[in-house]
Amino acid sequence: MTATAGSRALAQRRIDLIERLAQAAQARAHVGLGRRLRVRQAGLGTRIVFDGRELLNFASNDYLGLAAHPAVIAALIEGARRDGVGAGAAHLLGGHRAIHEQLDEALAAWTGRARALSFSSGWLANLGALTALLEPGDLCLQDQLNHACLLDGARLAGATLKRYRHGDLDRLARLLDAESERPALIASDGVFSMDGDRAPLVEIANLATARGASLMVDDAHGIGVLGPRGAGSVAAAGLGTTQVPVLMATFGKALGTSGAFVAGSAALIDGLTNFARSFVYSTALAPPLAHATLAAIRVAQVEAWRREQLARLARHFRRGAQARGLALVADADGPIQPLIVGAADAALTLARALADAGFYVPAIRPPTVRPGSARLRVTLSALHRESEVEALLDALARHWPQVTDAN
Ligand SMILES: *Cc1c(COP(=O)(O)O)cnc(C)c1O
Repeated sequence: MTATAGSRALAQRRIDLIERLAQAAQARAHVGLGRRLRVRQAGLGTRIVFDGRELLNFASNDYLGLAAHPAVIAALIEGARRDGVGAGAAHLLGGHRAIHEQLDEALAAWTGRARALSFSSGWLANLGALTALLEPGDLCLQDQLNHACLLDGARLAGATLKRYRHGDLDRLARLLDAESERPALIASDGVFSMDGDRAPLVEIANLATARGASLMVDDAHGIGVLGPRGAGSVAAAGLGTTQVPVLMATFGKALGTSGAFVAGSAALIDGLTNFARSFVYSTALAPPLAHATLAAIRVAQVEAWRREQLARLARHFRRGAQARGLALVADADGPIQPLIVGAADAALTLARALADAGFYVPAIRPPTVRPGSARLRVTLSALHRESEVEALLDALARHWPQVTDAN
C-alpha cells in the first residue's frame, strides 16, 4: 500500500466531526429540544414581529427600555461620525479611544470602584477575568445556577470548579473549609438570569472574608435595575471593593447596548490589561457603542421612574399571578418572572398558545435549565403598561390549566 492509500484508509475510519455534530443535533430535535433561529422582522420597544404578526414582547432584557431611546441612538450615530464604526485595532494597539476611557471612568464612578475596563461582551469579560485571576489548581466555587460563561471561564482557567446548590451557603462554607489552603474565588450571579432571584451577597461576602476567599459578582441583570441610581445589586447590598473585589456587568441588558465591563481596584484592572486574553487579543469595543453606552448610563442614572415603573410592574405581575394560581419563583422580585411549567413540551405548548393570543414569551428548556424545570421566562420592561401585564396574566390563566393538568 502506498503512503497516500494508507492515509486514505485511515481517514475513512475516522469519525467525521460535522456528521457527528449533525447527529447530536438530530438526537436533540428528536426529544423535542431542538433549537432554531427565527427572524424577528421588526419591532422596537415592547413590540416584536414574527411571521408578519406583531406580538407584545415579554422576552427582552432591555429592562429600562433604553435600546431604542432617542438619546442612545443619537449618541451612537454621532459617535460613528466622530470615531468611525469599528475600533480598527485592539485596545493596546491603538484601538483605545478617548470615549473608551470616558466610559471606563463613568463605570468606575457609578459602581464606586477605583477603575473599570470594558470588554466586547459579557462572555468575553467573564472568560478574561476568570482566566487572568485563576491558575490551575485554584478553587473556584460557583452557584449551580450561575451563567454558563462563569462556568466556562473557570474551566478554561484550569481551576477546580465546585458548584454548590442554589443559595446553599452551608455547603459553600464546607467546600471552603475542606480546602483552607488553596487560593479560592467565589463567583456568583448577582441576579440569576433564569430564576430572577438575587444572590445573598452580604452573607456570601462575609463568608468569603472570614475564609480568605475572593468574591466575583456577575451583575448582568442587576446593573441599571437595582441600587442607588441603578448602580446594581452590589451597591444595593452596600458592598465595596474590599468585600466584592471583582464586579462584572454587561451593557446588553438594562443599558440596551452591547458589551460589558469589569470594575475593581487599580491592581485588578492593571492585571486584566496584561493578562485577560479576551481583552488583549480582541478588537476594541466599537466606538459608537461606547458613545451609546455612556449615553445609556446617563439616562439610567437620572431617570429613576424607569426603575420605579419596573418595580411596580413586577409587584403587579406577582400579585396577579398568585391570585390566578400560577407557579412563581419564590424570591424573584424583579423584572425576570419565570413561571415553572416542568415538562419541556408543556412549556412549548403554553408558549405557542400565548403567541396565538398575541404575546411573545419563549419557553426555556433544558439544557439551559435543569430537566423537569422548563419554564416560561417572562421579562418586564419599564415601557410595558399595567394593562398589558394584566392582559398577559389573563392569557396565562386561560391556558395554564391545559398544560399543568396534562403534566
Ligand atoms: C447575558 C449574560 C452574560 C453574557 O453577557 P453578553 O454580553 O450577552 O455576552 C453573562 N452573565 C450573565 C449572568 C448574563 O445574563
